[in-house]
Amino acid sequence: MSDCLFCKIAAGEIPSNKVYEDEVCFAFYDIAPQAPSHFLVIPKEHIASVSAISADNSAIVAHIFEVIAKITKEKGIESYRVVSNIGEQAGQSVPHLHFHVLSGRDMTWPPG
Ligand code: 5GP
Ligand code: ZN
Repeated sequence: MSDCLFCKIAAGEIPSNKVYEDEVCFAFYDIAPQAPSHFLVIPKEHIASVSAISADNSAIVAHIFEVIAKITKEKGIESYRVVSNIGEQAGQSVPHLHFHVLSGRDMTWPPG
């Protein structure tokens, strides 16, 4: 999508602090980290949120979770939280599917 912030970041049109990239997905550090380590993993294809996942695109999501397991292992991150906010009430501010990967501090449950 031409006017989507995360489509532009995935395409390298807007700079980011890149963590990982392959043909399917892109990972980069969050500009406003909520934990000592906080990066986002996004599909290169525009998907609006978890609500837009279907049989047609769920292989992308499976791949993203493989990538999360790989990146965290490589970085020696043993305990972490994966979060995806869907919709305004849950706190989604960018309408392009993204998984937050947070680690490096104690986390509360339930989340605020
Ligand atoms: P959401 O609020 O939709 O769950 O998460 C969006 C995240 O994107 C937020 O944590 C926010 O800090 C991050 N973010 C927004 N704009 C940018 C940007 O231009 N660059 C980076 N690296 N992160 C961004
Ligand atoms: Zn997008």
